[in-house]
Amino acid sequence: MRDVEVDPISLERLVQLFEPERASLAAAKAEEAQKLLDGSIVWNVNATASGGGVAEMLQALLAYGRGAGVDTRWVVLDGTPEFFTITKRIHNLLHGSAGDRGPLGDAERRVYDDVLADNLESFLPRVRRGDVVLLHDPQTAGMVDGVRAAGAHAVWRSHIGRDITNEHTDQAWDFLRPYAEKADAVVFSRDDYVPQWVDRDRLCIVPPSLDPFSTKNLDLPTADVDATLARAGLVDLDPHERGEGLTFTRRDGTSGRLREHEGLIITGGIVPRDARVVLQVSRWDRLKDMRGVLTGFAAHLDEMPADAHLMLVGPDVYGVSDDPEGAEVLDDCVAAWRELPAEAQERVHLVALPMDDVDENAHIVNALQRHATVVVQKSLFEGFGLTVTEPMWKGKPVVASKVGGIQDQIVDGESGLLLLDPADLDAFGRVVASLLADEELAARLGAGARERVRDRFLGDRHLIQYVDLFRNLVAK
Ligand code: UDP
Repeated sequence: MRDVEVDPISLERLVQLFEPERASLAAAKAEEAQKLLDGSIVWNVNATASGGGVAEMLQALLAYGRGAGVDTRWVVLDGTPEFFTITKRIHNLLHGSAGDRGPLGDAERRVYDDVLADNLESFLPRVRRGDVVLLHDPQTAGMVDGVRAAGAHAVWRSHIGRDITNEHTDQAWDFLRPYAEKADAVVFSRDDYVPQWVDRDRLCIVPPSLDPFSTKNLDLPTADVDATLARAGLVDLDPHERGEGLTFTRRDGTSGRLREHEGLIITGGIVPRDARVVLQVSRWDRLKDMRGVLTGFAAHLDEMPADAHLMLVGPDVYGVSDDPEGAEVLDDCVAAWRELPAEAQERVHLVALPMDDVDENAHIVNALQRHATVVVQKSLFEGFGLTVTEPMWKGKPVVASKVGGIQDQIVDGESGLLLLDPADLDAFGRVVASLLADEELAARLGAGARERVRDRFLGDRHLIQYVDLFRNLVAK
């Protein structure tokens, strides 16, 4: 197993955003956590140190936890390709999809158990009686027994789930249940994801949170937003506005320098400087329905203001051999763009962002979300969309599908607009057009969105829920 180093960050930095009462509650909870844990360690175990929402969240929560005087640690397990094929299979099944249609029988269980037994062998000598071990996602559930045998509290947290079960979710839960059932507590992001067999006394619902001080969410002055998008070759601004030497703050606090980019725009050409941008940022995944956004927008171009442009932005997947589906989905979008009439083609921009520097990528996404007039997330399915929370925090009006965790994130008409049927492209086009035409509504929804994230989806709420969970565990 590998340790991930996380530098402490003072809670002060986060609570300066809050009114005094909320700030004091966070401070009081930090003190309570120190007393409760009394020198015990809070371990987090997951499968990856970077990439994906879980790693992003752990980075922030551990930093604040350490800053609050709690000894939080992060270890990443070692697995074999066979092990990760099985856990990816479980992941897809939990989302209700058939995935690779491979088996999940005794042979797979043996591989899974053996890999986790090896990991426990190196991990358990470090774990002390009374420590809390947070095991994240299907890859770690099989460690519950070993952790408990060491006298530590085992918490298993699932970051994925599906509102309505089907044969695939049943199959995954049949595999995981014998492990998860024995945990001292289980954590889910929303109630609808919890399988029936979970003992409600040991259940905790903890939605994800966003860090306002990460590279992706840090405040950026408009001049920096413009300079970033110009230098990245995305928006047509004069060279003198290109902010030569433009820097950004990396997640580790050091400074990065934005490279000059060319060719990130695959279709539609550079975005005009005065265009109002409708933006969706997503992985090139069919469930995000980038193609549907493209056709829905183009079909309603007549109703859109003349300066409305669509940007569909995702990672550069060409040449990345481990994501063949990504390239396929992007190709599919390019094919759909080619079928558009010329006047629509000019207003639909497909963009692939380089992923070789994740902090630079985060900085560009930050600038794009701040530059957008309307942000959309027309997913067909979504566990909890960080791509919804991120623009909401930036005060943007968001139009998103009423699916999965998005339903908890947006209150329809107050902090964004929900699409009842994500497959209804007409409704989608109409809603976006009407929002672009109504600046007052857009401003009201944007303000409501920022408030909603401040109220519910920042780290202090997340950490407070953890302290409450620890209190219950220690009392047992
Ligand atoms: N993202 C990114 N660059 C891209 C596409 C996506 O940084 O080109 C980020 C996005 O900002 C968000 C995360 O990837 O932070 C996606 O998380 P989300 O929960 O929305 O969906 P997931 O990809 O986990 O299904």
